[in-house]
Amino acid sequence: MTENAPPNALSDPPGRPLRIAVVGAGPAGLFIVDTLTDTADFPVSVELIDRIPTPFGLLRYGVAPDHPAIRSIRNRFTTLLHRDDVAFLGGVEIGRDLTVDDLREHLDAIVYSYGSASDRHLDIPGEDLLGSLSATEFVAWYCGHPDADRAVVEDALAAGGSGEGVQSVVVVGAGNVALDVARVLARTPDELAGTDMPDHVLAALATTTPQEVHLLARRGPADVAFSTSELRELGQLGDADVVLADPAVDLSDPPELSRTAGRNLAVLRQWEQAEPPAPGRRRVVLHFWSRPVRLVGAGPAGHERVQAVSVEPTELDDDNRLVAAGPAYDIRADLVLRAVGYRGVRLPGVPFDDVGAVIPNEAGRVLGIKADGAPAAMGEYVTGWAKRGPQGVIGTNKPDARETARAVLADAPELLRRPDPGGLAAWLSACGTPAVDIAGWDRIDAAELALGQTEGRERTTLADRAAMLAAADHDPDDDPGPDR
Ligand SMILES: Cc1cc2nc3c(=O)[nH]c(=O)nc-3n(C[C@H](O)[C@H](O)[C@H](O)COP(=O)(O)OP(=O)(O)OC[C@H]3O[C@@H](n4cnc5c(N)ncnc54)[C@H](O)[C@@H]3O)c2cc1C
Repeated sequence: MTENAPPNALSDPPGRPLRIAVVGAGPAGLFIVDTLTDTADFPVSVELIDRIPTPFGLLRYGVAPDHPAIRSIRNRFTTLLHRDDVAFLGGVEIGRDLTVDDLREHLDAIVYSYGSASDRHLDIPGEDLLGSLSATEFVAWYCGHPDADRAVVEDALAAGGSGEGVQSVVVVGAGNVALDVARVLARTPDELAGTDMPDHVLAALATTTPQEVHLLARRGPADVAFSTSELRELGQLGDADVVLADPAVDLSDPPELSRTAGRNLAVLRQWEQAEPPAPGRRRVVLHFWSRPVRLVGAGPAGHERVQAVSVEPTELDDDNRLVAAGPAYDIRADLVLRAVGYRGVRLPGVPFDDVGAVIPNEAGRVLGIKADGAPAAMGEYVTGWAKRGPQGVIGTNKPDARETARAVLADAPELLRRPDPGGLAAWLSACGTPAVDIAGWDRIDAAELALGQTEGRERTTLADRAAMLAAADHDPDDDPGPDR
């Protein structure tokens, strides 16, 4: 080491790569792999692990299929996934197939980027009635997530409270996920036909044509977390109009206003002034200052199905607290979707902050939950929703990943002092744990594109894990050619 080198600087090129596991191949995991491989001035070897046989996380299993431009962002990661210093290990769940201690043994550093897989609850009576789903379940189903519970979602869509199918849906929430699920339900089959939704999803949605989709926001029009482009899109549906439940709701600009809120209010004012909806068209009804207090069910004990949502008008009191502003009333609901947020989950063996539902960290370095907040272990990092909670769009994960990558690279001299731990891939195959590698993902990708083309669309998502694994294993070179 030279006299002036900082204590942790790499004085000589290391004789081996820094071995890093990245747990979760969603946008955050992909952004940090990109930064690490791009900026390290010494060799790195990244093993990118995902519990699903495919990469991309919520880019594939969250972003709405009728938003193909956003979904296509995943194509930008294709070159990255094929780099020699990046190994994709799909279908390997940390906490089930491998433990965090396995990773600690075989790698120098671990980056947790496993997102926020669970959902928040309303905590009101009736929340668990049949026909009441979380948006998380519904979104996973329509995106073709292999772990989505098809039976539960398709039963909810087919049954309908009155026996005449789902006529009225209540979506609870005031963010973009609420808009996504409302829009998908209000679209016509033709509007969805060109998406990459699995065939069984298109079939179920084609027979689910609610006449009314109600969206409940517990605060006012200036407080919602909608992106203006998504809000505006609600007014451009083929067979549905947007109406305000309370035409007298105050849509004027309050004194302090974010740019997004100002634009949202302008869109709402346009709708307020529009012609009344044509008879026979479906309606998306926006209810501001409205919170659900109970889901009302009917049916045999233990099999009660939702029939209505009891909704209470709200207002702010002098202390800015949300309070009831009048008696509750019922809205018919054959299906209820709760879109009140995702929530992080604890990974066994990793520090977790139960209140924020995130991995506690300082600029991406995992902290132990000790009185002094000291680092949990040298070489453990976090990025994405697992780091800051379920907020922010895909792009938000990029600077977040850069911050965490800076911490990894700053610690590299220390991490490289230990003997080479060897990495995971070789050890995994030696102990017989199967993983879908990048060639396997390429084959799933090709199978989805081929299936889509037979159906006149770009891609059809394979939703069944067995079908995905079969496609991953299927080497096209094994097919008999036309002259064989
Ligand atoms: C419904 C919905 C729609 C959205 N639409 C948009 C949009 O239109 N535009 C936009 O910009 N943003 C959108 N977002 C936000 C965007 O998807 C997130 O910002 C982003 O996906 C967060 O990235 P992440 O990598 O932290 O988490 P995720 O994308 O959730 O990735 C986490 C990955 O970790 C894997 N994983 C989880 N547990 C384990 C484990 N134990 N072992 C191994 N792997 C594991 C998961 O399978 C997943 O692949 C949307 C979000 C949602 C929920």
